[in-house]
Amino acid sequence: MRKTIVIIFGAPGSGKGFLVDCIENELVNRNIVSKENIGHISTGDLLRAEIAAQTPLGQEIAQIVSSGGLVSDEIVSQLIEKSLDGPEVLKFIDGYPRTEAQRLTLASLLEGKGYRVIALMRDTPIPLIMQRVSKRRVCQDCKCTHSVDDGKCPRCGGLSLIRKDDAVIEKRLAEYENNTAGQWNFLALLADSMLKVDGSEDAEVAAKDIVKRYF
Ligand SMILES: [Zn+2]
Repeated sequence: MRKTIVIIFGAPGSGKGFLVDCIENELVNRNIVSKENIGHISTGDLLRAEIAAQTPLGQEIAQIVSSGGLVSDEIVSQLIEKSLDGPEVLKFIDGYPRTEAQRLTLASLLEGKGYRVIALMRDTPIPLIMQRVSKRRVCQDCKCTHSVDDGKCPRCGGLSLIRKDDAVIEKRLAEYENNTAGQWNFLALLADSMLKVDGSEDAEVAAKDIVKRYF
């Protein structure tokens, strides 16, 4: 398979992560790509990993985060660049690019690398996002995500709470609308293919279609 980057785009709460899981499962189950050959690049994970590794950059990031500041585009881009060099043949990028500056950086990072770039948008109506997120709970013990709200995890009986980032979903949606949503059309400048997936449709069905179409 040709080295491929899938940029997964969509509002917070649109179900991007779940769609990625479904695509990955479909690819692995059909023996198209092995699990070891699939990488996930998520800015949140990269920042956490760098902090955990206690590198000089990680220490700098920890300081910014603990003082409530925003990590600069420059730092995020450094981390993205490092993980783009990983050996996996297929990489999903989630949560990046969020701004025009990040999009321009990504375009220059990808230049000449020979990647096929697919931009996928999980296009979920805002009322549906609000409805899903308001019911989503995470178990504090086994960490499973579910949508029941009697305060207890259906799997282990642990305490279930709303996710911290779900509690501020309206703010995050506004941020997405103001800064990020407009970047979608510009992704055409760096992507070989663009596809919008209806977020109100079943993600597993959508994943099967995507795999048939592109892999
Ligand atoms: Zn549990």
